[in-house]
Amino acid sequence: PSQMAGLTADIHKKVQDHPCYSEEAHHHFARMHVAVAPACNIQCNYCNRKYDCSNESRPGVVSEVLSPAQAIKKTLAVAAAIPQMSVLGIAGPGDALANPARTFEVFRELQQRAPDIKLCLSTNGLMLPQYVDQIAAANVDHVTITINCIDPDVGAQIYPWIFWEHRRVTGREAAEILIAQQQKGLEMLVARGILVKVNSVMIPGINDEHLKEVSRVVRAKGAFLHNVMPLISEAEHGTHFGLSGQRGPTPAELQALQDACAGDMNMMRHCRQCRADAVGMLGEDRGAEFTLDKIEAMEI
Ligand code: SF4
Ligand code: SF4
Repeated sequence: PSQMAGLTADIHKKVQDHPCYSEEAHHHFARMHVAVAPACNIQCNYCNRKYDCSNESRPGVVSEVLSPAQAIKKTLAVAAAIPQMSVLGIAGPGDALANPARTFEVFRELQQRAPDIKLCLSTNGLMLPQYVDQIAAANVDHVTITINCIDPDVGAQIYPWIFWEHRRVTGREAAEILIAQQQKGLEMLVARGILVKVNSVMIPGINDEHLKEVSRVVRAKGAFLHNVMPLISEAEHGTHFGLSGQRGPTPAELQALQDACAGDMNMMRHCRQCRADAVGMLGEDRGAEFTLDKIEAMEI
């Protein structure tokens, strides 16, 4: 049966042309990311900060950080060249909401200059409750939260620290704060009718069994979609897990967990963990046509 069956008209409209939310749309629409958010306010053990945030993309693939003005120009250039471009997302390379001035400047300008482009943001959730009203006011229809746990004891193994109220918080306390903020942010977004996708990074031996419980809880709170992604553990990335020999899941382990979670929720299975600066349809990357030097030379 279609993933679209049983949706209200309003939600159907939000889902039908977003390639990340609909398997069908994935074949007809394109999305792009602009890397305007360099800072991050937490540390994930699977990230070493030199690369794009694995909230939405493959760690290990660097994209150049753009100024808001460059990002706006790039988006308008891509929209003019690729008519299927329906969604602009901000997903890194750090956290969109750790760079709120830059993120919301891009959204505000695009809303005025290209109101047909749907706006999307991805976040670790730490600052979400503080920004939900601004997100709604900016007409952002889709938010992705990366939620890897709801148990602080699991979280303490994934997050060595967070930056919270002007200080660094570590250990279980850090995980407790992050989890509370993520869950509160999720509830507030759902209450405002914003479609929420939850991304989880599957880390064997750390949160793999626990993610079934995460899936149940976020579903009960109204998340629209759950996307379980494999930890990509390659030694050259130098992540903290990588250094200690943490492995990623096998394809069979990933599929077994996705099947276990699928019982009570829409699971996203078409995610390809694409580059954060990828441009174009599934399976094609036209990013090279829109590098900074080429965009600067364009008349927009
Ligand atoms: Fe890295 Fe993203 Fe985690 Fe920040 S939220 S530490 S950018 S993976
Ligand atoms: Fe898709 Fe995530 Fe990018 Fe939004 S932020 S367009 S959901 S990949």
